[in-house]
Amino acid sequence: ATTATVALLTDWLERFRAAVVENQSYLTELDSAIGDADHGSNMARGMTAVVEKAGEPATVDALFRTVGMTLVSTVGGASGPLYGTFFLRFGTTAGAVETLDGPALSAALHAGLAGVLQRGNAEVGDKTMVDALTPALAAFDASLESGGDVADATRAAADAAAKGRDATEPLVARKGRASYLGDRSAGHLDPGATSTALLFEALAAALA
Ligand code: ADP
Ligand code: MG
Ligand code: MG
Repeated sequence: ATTATVALLTDWLERFRAAVVENQSYLTELDSAIGDADHGSNMARGMTAVVEKAGEPATVDALFRTVGMTLVSTVGGASGPLYGTFFLRFGTTAGAVETLDGPALSAALHAGLAGVLQRGNAEVGDKTMVDALTPALAAFDASLESGGDVADATRAAADAAAKGRDATEPLVARKGRASYLGDRSAGHLDPGATSTALLFEALAAALA
């Protein structure tokens, strides 16, 4: 695709729902090593509710307002407010439009990341979803700058998110429940960075 329409963005959400449902036990297994074993069920419950409530809104901001509010209200813990804020800010910045071109999609994604940073106060290297989000957006922008279209940029973002996820394994967590473990959090992938890699893989698939 050369632009992200509301229909393609809805497909993104459906693909992300399918991915977190398919990987529910894996995400929970990761969270059982360094958290409280609920990341898979949190994300599966949240995204199932999102897809049920999404409907067929006319504009990007309307779609993501529903998405963000649904996640905040159906998912407790850290990930509900963080993903919820990501999507709410994404929608606010996108605005009442029917399609996003590459730069507009970039701006919406950056607003989402800024919301996550503001809400969770994490930095790259703290072993959180930020470790997948940040390189994904950098790769997205680099692809656009070198002449890539939306499909190229989302593919680059998904690959970078997967690398960012893998890079969380040796890290000691400095934010969230995993940080309570101190040095014992090292040697495990971060569950939230893993679900964020699925988010960008779903985006690349929807906009291919
Ligand atoms: P909880 O930890 O409340 O049980 P989840 O298990 O659903 O919530 O989500 C855990 C994930 O949330 C972590 O793997 C991490 O990626 C992310 N996370 C936790 N705290 C923060 C934070 N302050 N900033 C960014 N991401 C965070
Ligand atoms: Mg948890
Ligand atoms: Mg929890």
